[in-house]
Amino acid sequence: MNHFEVQGGELHCEGVPLTRIAEAVGTPVYVYSSATLERHYTVLRDAFVDAGLGQPLIAYAVKANSNVAVLRTLGNLGAGADTVSEGEIRRALAAGIPGERIVFSGVGKAEHEIAFALEHGVAEINVESEPELHTVNRVAQQLGKRATVAIRVNPDVEAGGHAKISTGKAENKFGVSFSEAERLYANAANMAGVRPVGVACHIGSQITDLAPMKAAFIKMRGLVERIRAEGLTVERLDLGGGLGVPYFNQPEPPSPADYAAMIAEATRGLDVQFAFEPGRMIAANAGILLSRVQHVHERPEGRRFLVLDAAMNDLLRPAMYDAYHDIRPVKPRGDETATYDVVGPICETGDTFTRDRVLPVLEAGDLLAFMSAGAYGASMSSEYNSRLLVPEVLVKGDQFAVVRPRPTYQDMLDKEHSAPWLT
Ligand SMILES: *Cc1c(COP(=O)(O)O)cnc(C)c1O
Repeated sequence: MNHFEVQGGELHCEGVPLTRIAEAVGTPVYVYSSATLERHYTVLRDAFVDAGLGQPLIAYAVKANSNVAVLRTLGNLGAGADTVSEGEIRRALAAGIPGERIVFSGVGKAEHEIAFALEHGVAEINVESEPELHTVNRVAQQLGKRATVAIRVNPDVEAGGHAKISTGKAENKFGVSFSEAERLYANAANMAGVRPVGVACHIGSQITDLAPMKAAFIKMRGLVERIRAEGLTVERLDLGGGLGVPYFNQPEPPSPADYAAMIAEATRGLDVQFAFEPGRMIAANAGILLSRVQHVHERPEGRRFLVLDAAMNDLLRPAMYDAYHDIRPVKPRGDETATYDVVGPICETGDTFTRDRVLPVLEAGDLLAFMSAGAYGASMSSEYNSRLLVPEVLVKGDQFAVVRPRPTYQDMLDKEHSAPWLT
């Protein structure tokens, strides 16, 4: 469920008409609903509690939408943060999320990032390889600390989803095998700079079938039992993120309740603290990208192009993952429809949001919304083609705030410097 609905003939975010945001901030612009963010978080948390999973650490995956105001909205409800860089840790801290609710994941953590994480007392560093375990051990000892770590396992399951976001097969770069995890865990227990507390996995993203997740989680349970049988303690089981969301005409994802019930079944009797790293399912349907039609360009061969002021640098998912976004006019003109190729102004064929889409008839100057754009939207945006970084707006009830302003062209130019030999 989300809070983007037509009221009085025009699309609103909660109580705010999108036309008002377009007038105040211009387009393109991302618009997020606080109520949807809050609802997605609380529904998931309640599902875990109802399924008997205790009080898990729900570490929202910052990369899905890393705006500090979004992080603060979730952090205020008790969410933690799953981070993959020092920058993301800094964002979480800036949003008031304490280190004890921050998980530091990622395949190639730099030493300065590990040191930063340790200095800020993160809850868990998810170690993805043997060399990384040694690095964490060394950095922690240099700082006179002991790092709390979990070993990230690659459960070697095929979880579906797009190849670029599938992470749980042995051929992917993430994590270690089960046998390696056992060995690393035992080694870690003997290291002065680390304290292994758990095991972690994350098998991919936009997963709409619970079966591969369940298969992975049953394997994870076996791993916990084998490590414990060696006399070691395992306190935490981090099951990652990856649950899909409904992107309109796509397979319907399982409900949070079904997801939680599946986890309870796969791990029954295992006394652990759970951790989760949901990103997309919290943020995707909490945001839209608002854009204006520049013009409608009809080609003699019959193709009709809707040329927008938004482009692939603002919303990369269609170009990168062949993603489908529902497109809705902000002020529908009536029932008449037409078939469009919806494109951005960038000189690249990849700058096509969709082809042959049947939409309500639109004209130059009309506003439209890319739905389900709250995750992996603004956080993947760039200045490609020297287009200004897309701004972000957060709505709460009948109020809205610009939480990332559109930079000026001078801001953009000021970030760069000449070289001394150039005049
Ligand atoms: C990307 C990622 C997530 C979040 O995935 P979603 O599909 O957005 O839920 C969680 N954990 C790790 C380690 C990730 O890389």
